[in-house]
Amino acid sequence: MKNTQDNTLYDVIISGGGPVGLFLACELALAKCTVLILEKVEDPHSPLKQLPFGLRGLNSPSIEALYRRGLLQEMELHKRFKTPHISTNPKPGEKAPGAGHFARIPFDRAKFDTTQWKYRLPSSLDTSIFTSMEEIEEVLSRRAENLGVTVKYGIGLTGFEQTEEGVAAQAGNQTFHGKWLVGCDGSRSIVRKAGGFEFAGTEPEFTGYTAKVAIADPEKLHTGGITTERGMYLLSQVDYLIMQDFDGGAFHNSGQPITLEHVQATLRKISGTDVTITALHTSTTWTDRARQATAYRNGHVLLAGDAAHIHAPLGGQGLNLGLGDAMNLGWKLAATIHGTASEGLLDTYFTERYPIGVKVLDWSRAQVVIMKPNPHSRALNAIIRDLIDTPDGATYFAGRVMGVNMHYDLAGKHPMVGYSVPNFEFEDVNTINDEMKDGYPILLSFENSVTLGSFADEHQLKYISGAAKENFGLNALLIRPDGFIAWATEREADMEELQQALDHLFIK
Ligand SMILES: Cc1cc2nc3c(=O)[nH]c(=O)nc-3n(C[C@H](O)[C@H](O)[C@H](O)COP(=O)(O)OP(=O)(O)OC[C@H]3O[C@@H](n4cnc5c(N)ncnc54)[C@H](O)[C@@H]3O)c2cc1C
Repeated sequence: MKNTQDNTLYDVIISGGGPVGLFLACELALAKCTVLILEKVEDPHSPLKQLPFGLRGLNSPSIEALYRRGLLQEMELHKRFKTPHISTNPKPGEKAPGAGHFARIPFDRAKFDTTQWKYRLPSSLDTSIFTSMEEIEEVLSRRAENLGVTVKYGIGLTGFEQTEEGVAAQAGNQTFHGKWLVGCDGSRSIVRKAGGFEFAGTEPEFTGYTAKVAIADPEKLHTGGITTERGMYLLSQVDYLIMQDFDGGAFHNSGQPITLEHVQATLRKISGTDVTITALHTSTTWTDRARQATAYRNGHVLLAGDAAHIHAPLGGQGLNLGLGDAMNLGWKLAATIHGTASEGLLDTYFTERYPIGVKVLDWSRAQVVIMKPNPHSRALNAIIRDLIDTPDGATYFAGRVMGVNMHYDLAGKHPMVGYSVPNFEFEDVNTINDEMKDGYPILLSFENSVTLGSFADEHQLKYISGAAKENFGLNALLIRPDGFIAWATEREADMEELQQALDHLFIK
């Protein structure tokens, strides 16, 4: 990277070009903000981002968010790991590839009662798919570049100070200037630490290992996952090993290198065998430390993604949580920068996203409790297993992991307010999700209405009208740029009520 002085005043500087930083940059650039990403890694193609290490499960809110911006359509991996469409009738006994698990207890797709999942339609998108860190970052980087985002690789943020114009960020031996700084720099976020954010939560129970290995005598091990009296191991594809060693996170925290000898000793201890590992190709450790920033904003500095919350990757929720942060924050920060909303709008980023984070952290803690290798946890695990085996249990647990009932507590009379807009399908085959690529707020009317059309024009809303195959008895809706319903009515629109909803949306 050539070390030339950059004197631009960016609307937003993002520290960290991982999936959350990239997605946020795309959202901001789509809304016509100038964005600089500082990414400390020179080469983003780490082996840990490639398959199988980099495999990531996306849930319903992430799938919708990426589809709405035309990004999911550019991804290929999920087509290879295609899961059956949830809203069609599953065949009895059908297994649930990709449907997920709770504490490694898989859900039986055939038991799902999808009528308990609100506002789903035959045209609804999948509720779980797989991508990889490599693929998602590639697709997002390409989009960011096309939208004019400046990305500087190999320049990590080292500190910052808040100034009158916003933030002066130090990286390399340069200072970059932005009106806002967002820390998307992962679990060890410099922005969080230097910004004085409190990071409250619980300490780990275990060290988790993910490793690509060669094993001389794999027949000594179980295939698939098994919990023993000393921990858990899972061997798949012969060479892909996952372990949980309940050492209180000691090894992960020690900072020691992960050696073949150590992985072998841990596997021997957990499996109770004398299995021999002949090669350790790639490995990483992780824990179930669960912490969350108690504020996501301090002045002109914000946090998103792992910088704002960390937890065990059990059931794969962290990326989903971070992408949700980015989708929620992007349009709000852009409207604040452009002066089309009051600063109060940014406060709703925290009030809406923090409780979602709390739920995800607790979900991961609850799994740890029933995974511990002790008699009490085993007893509780057996009861949860029975519950998950019932239709209501499978529906509840899978629904939580897939985020199908995720909603925000927004003010509004209609019960659909705060939910992600159902994927209404119009007569011309287009769906509402296809109309959101530009990130505008939408006024949707199922009947053509001159009054609503002029209201939309006057307030720079995108107006869409037309009959839908199914409309849940609605007449019209106001949809936020992130696809969540801000107002809905089953009767002819009360214009005063609609105006209030719009004012409330942008906190005017
Ligand atoms: C084994 C494992 C499996 C997982 N599986 C799933 C799953 O199936 N589904 C799911 O939703 N989540 C999963 N997760 C979690 C998910 O990977 C993370 O939550 C997600 O990567 C967070 O994205 P992020 O952009 O916030 O942070 P990161 O992906 O950590 O990206 C942060 C970026 O910031 C950069 N950076 C760091 N410091 C600086 C600095 N000072 N200056 C500039 N740049 C900096 C880093 O180089 C990095 O590129 C899993 C995690 C693990 C460990």
